[in-house]
Amino acid sequence: MRYISTRGEAPALGFEDVLLTGLASDGGLYVPESLPHFSLEEIRSWRGLSYSELAFNVMHPFVDDAIPADDFRKMLDDTYSVFSHQSVAPLVQLDANEWVMELFRGPTLAFKDFALQLLGRLLDYVLEKRKQHVVIMGATSGDTGSAAIEGCRRCEHVDIFILHPHERVSEVQRRQMTTVKGDNIHNIAVRGNFDDCQRMVKESFGNQGFLAGKTQLAAVNSINWARIMAQIVYYFQASLALGGPDRSMAFSVPTGNFGDIFAGYLAKKMGLPISQLVIATNRNDILHRFMSGNKYEQHQLEHTLSPSMDIMVSSNFERLLFDLHGRDGQAVKTLLENASKGPVSIEDYRWKHARKLFDSDAVDDKGTCETIREIYEQNEYLLDPHTAIGVRAARNCRRDSSVPMITLGTAHPAKFPDAIAESGLTVKPQLPAHMADLFERDENYTVLDNNIAGVQEFIAKHWKNA
Ligand SMILES: *Cc1c(COP(=O)(O)O)cnc(C)c1O
Repeated sequence: MRYISTRGEAPALGFEDVLLTGLASDGGLYVPESLPHFSLEEIRSWRGLSYSELAFNVMHPFVDDAIPADDFRKMLDDTYSVFSHQSVAPLVQLDANEWVMELFRGPTLAFKDFALQLLGRLLDYVLEKRKQHVVIMGATSGDTGSAAIEGCRRCEHVDIFILHPHERVSEVQRRQMTTVKGDNIHNIAVRGNFDDCQRMVKESFGNQGFLAGKTQLAAVNSINWARIMAQIVYYFQASLALGGPDRSMAFSVPTGNFGDIFAGYLAKKMGLPISQLVIATNRNDILHRFMSGNKYEQHQLEHTLSPSMDIMVSSNFERLLFDLHGRDGQAVKTLLENASKGPVSIEDYRWKHARKLFDSDAVDDKGTCETIREIYEQNEYLLDPHTAIGVRAARNCRRDSSVPMITLGTAHPAKFPDAIAESGLTVKPQLPAHMADLFERDENYTVLDNNIAGVQEFIAKHWKNA
C-alpha cells in the first residue's frame, strides 16, 4: 500500500515512512493511494469476531507487507487487551434504535486510546527493525497528551516530550500525564498558554537542529495516518453488532479535528453500509458552518465545556476536501491557500455531494448541559460533555428512525466533573477502579519558561541517547 499527499507534490511513501512522518513535505496530509473494498458477504463473515480479530481484517490491507501477519495479530491482541471491557467498545442503548458506543474503556478514558495504544506499538516495532530512535514532541490541552504518553510508556525506541500550559489543564488531565512512570516520559509545563506550546512544537519540527542531527522528531497528533486507520475498526464493530451489513447505520460523532468522523467516512467507502454521518461540534463550529452553508471561514477560538473540540480549523478536513475535488492535489492546495486569507466555498455540486452523507449541528454549553441532565433523568446514564453534544446533534439531525443511530462516546464523564456539576446534577461521576487512586499518585513534571530555546535545551539534554 502506498500513500500520497493531499497537495499532490510530496513523494508517495510506504506504510513505515508514513508512520514516522507528520505533514507531507508539500504541507499536505498522507492518504492511501487506493482503499481496500470489502463485499457484504465478506463483512457478514466477520460477525462474532473479537475486536482484535476484526481490527486485523480491517487494517491489514493498510499495513500490507510492512509487518508480517502474525506479528500484527499479536500487536493487536496486546493493544486491545488493555481495555477494561471484553468487547472493547461496548454499546449502550439510550432509546428505540438509539445507542452510545463507549470508546472510553482504555487507559486514559478517551477514544484516543484506540489509536495511540496501537501507534506506540507500531512505532516501536518499526524502529526496532530499523535500529532507529525517535523523539516525539507534542503539545496538549488535555486528552491527546495523556493518551500519547500511555501509548509510548513501554516503547524502547521512543522518548516522548509533552508540553502543556502550566496551571491551565484540568487536574484529572494533568495527573493522567504526570503520574505515568517511565524514564522515556517527559512532561513539560510551559509558563504560557496552549498556543505557545503548539508554536514551540511547530517551530521545532521546522528546525530540528537542536537534536544535533542524532535523531528525528516524530508526530503523534491526529494528522498521523495510523491514528485514522485504527479508528475505522469500531464503525465495523458497531454495525456488525446491530444487524449490519444487512442494514444501514447512522453515526453521530463529536468532532474537533475531523479525525474520528473521517474514519467513519472511510469505513463507508470500504463497503460498510452507512447512510448518514452527523458532524457534532460545539460553538467552535467551522465544520457546521461549512456543511450547512458551504462557507469555510475561521472564527475566534471559544472556550467551552467540551475542551477537546475547541479548535479554529479542522486539520483532517483536508483529507475529505481531497476526495471532494476528485483527488486533485493542486485544487486542494489552492483552496486552502485561499482559506488562510478569508472565507472560501467549493463548487455547489461538490458540496451537495458531501451533503448526501453528512449532516451537522453546533451545540453550545447550555445545550450540552441540558442533554447531560435529560439523559441522566431518562436513563440514569451520565454522558461526558463531548458525547452529550453528539447525542444532541444525533437527535436534531436524524433522518430516518428505522436506521440505528449510534453516537460515539468519546470520553468518560469522570474526566469532566465540572460540566456534570454545571448541568445541575448532584451525582458525582466516579473514576473507574484502575484510576481510583489517581489523586494520591506522585507527579513528575518540569516547569519551564515560555521560551523555545530553554525547552529545546531541556529536550536535547534529556532524551535517552543524548
Ligand atoms: C479528541 C477528542 C474529540 C475530537 O476528535 P477529532 O478526531 O479531533 O474530531 C472529541 N471528544 C474527545 C473527548 C476528544 O478527546
